[in-house]
Amino acid sequence: MEGQEKLLASRVAIVGCGATGSSLASLLARAGVGYLRIIDRDFVEPSNLQRQNLFDEKDAAESLPKAVAAAAKIGGFNREVTVESHVTDLSPQNADAMLRGVQLILDGTDNFETRYLINDYAVQNAVPWIYTAAVGSYGITMNVIPQETACLSCVFPQRPSGTVDTCDTAGILNSAVNFAASVAATEAIKLLTGAKDSLRRTLLSYDLWRNERTEVAAASPAPDCRTCGRKEFVHLAGEGRPHITLCGRNSVQIHEHARPIDLAEMSKRLTPHGQVRQNGFMLKFSKEPYEITLFPDGRAIVKGTIDTAVARSLYARYVGS
Ligand SMILES: [Zn+2]
Repeated sequence: MEGQEKLLASRVAIVGCGATGSSLASLLARAGVGYLRIIDRDFVEPSNLQRQNLFDEKDAAESLPKAVAAAAKIGGFNREVTVESHVTDLSPQNADAMLRGVQLILDGTDNFETRYLINDYAVQNAVPWIYTAAVGSYGITMNVIPQETACLSCVFPQRPSGTVDTCDTAGILNSAVNFAASVAATEAIKLLTGAKDSLRRTLLSYDLWRNERTEVAAASPAPDCRTCGRKEFVHLAGEGRPHITLCGRNSVQIHEHARPIDLAEMSKRLTPHGQVRQNGFMLKFSKEPYEITLFPDGRAIVKGTIDTAVARSLYARYVGS
């Protein structure tokens, strides 16, 4: 009873609500965590349904933003959970507004850039967070308790580069995502109920297909860590953020145009040039072989290319520069 009351009083942010984020949100909402803030930049597509267990075909047909669809689904099985949805990309500019006032941050993202940003914010503000990732048949997770355990930069001073598998090249086994999310959700419940002694203090990775488990010690910060040692929050400073290629989507996100867009007005402007659909949350403009999804804050996801230059020029041509 005491633990359940602590969960009800808990406030948790989930960054990214794709496969991992869906699973984390579902598990924590069903467990009775009283407040979830869900931050996601994307909308539901049919290809997501293989693994993103909060969504269905209707959400994909309507291209609903994932944060909005997730809140509706959670409301259907636990009305007592307060869900605050934000259809946005976590960025250095909005990190403080998006992550303030929670006791724990969970990683449902698919990229290291956002994870380093979460890590900077978490260390700077002494908020615990849990790193979680999955690709292929492989899941990995680590608890970060700032100044107590290793942070993400202690373990990975540089983002892994080179021939790293992504959802594009390796696919993803839905059970691997749910495995990683289940481990992370369990650690979250320990943290929120104050069972700190039971927390895992390692970087755990597990390949469900090969039955291989690896644990790397992460119980204490690296003495020379740039983030938690020297307190250099370079990702929060956010210089030169590159455009992001969306995992497994043949898409590029354009996020440098932070100016509001009137979707109705834009819809009129684009109709002569191609097919336009609008649902109040976003506008979808199709012109073969490309599809531009435009959000009210000026952000866009350009589908049909992974070349950021092509995406940027399409944006300039149809939306404006
Ligand atoms: Zn560190």
